[in-house]
Amino acid sequence: MPRDYTVEARRRVAPVRKRIGPLIAQLSAEYPDATIALRFENETELLIAVMLSAQTTDVNVNRVTGHLFRKYRRPEDYLAVSASELERDIYATGFYRQKARSIQGSMRILVEEYGGRVPRTIEELVRLPGVARKTANVVASELGEAQGIVVDTHVRRLAQRLGLSREQDPVKIERDLIKLVPREHWRLFSHLLIWHGRRVCDARHPACEGCCVSDLCPSRRG
Ligand code: SF4
Repeated sequence: MPRDYTVEARRRVAPVRKRIGPLIAQLSAEYPDATIALRFENETELLIAVMLSAQTTDVNVNRVTGHLFRKYRRPEDYLAVSASELERDIYATGFYRQKARSIQGSMRILVEEYGGRVPRTIEELVRLPGVARKTANVVASELGEAQGIVVDTHVRRLAQRLGLSREQDPVKIERDLIKLVPREHWRLFSHLLIWHGRRVCDARHPACEGCCVSDLCPSRRG
């Protein structure tokens, strides 16, 4: 049976609405540089990098885009090559056929409908091939237009351990987080949880002893 962290939250720490402010403050103090790990220099590169990051690591994507972004500078450049050439250029990110198809489909829409710009709303972004809600959320947030909270595997795990949501489904977890986290922190909040999840609150071995939010966490061990 899955562990019910919200029951523990009620027993061991203050109600979630009282904890959310200190939680953001303590994580922000611990990770003042928390930001997206993907490297990009403009909105097209951001979109491509996030699309490529499905099912692989950010480190791997950065390795591939180092070369990719020197070769492809504008949306039109992705349409000027054959699918197989693009597939070769993104091969190391995995699922390269599907990703190449999605990238070319998206770049075509950018060129034909948006004058080569990346749209800003979640509704427009999810119309692009291969762009699901999470990808759209990341892109909109990084473009300064956060319309939700990105829930990846780290955010999902941390939201549950910290007693911020009892849901399993990322969309429902996001709904819970949106109600709790002030809008001006939506973008930062996922970065903070992702950084904390990678560095301290590991899926298998959370390092509760040295954790900067252990006083606010219902799941702390020891
Ligand atoms: S106290 Fe432990 S379980 Fe809670 S956030 Fe910190 S590392 Fe994770």
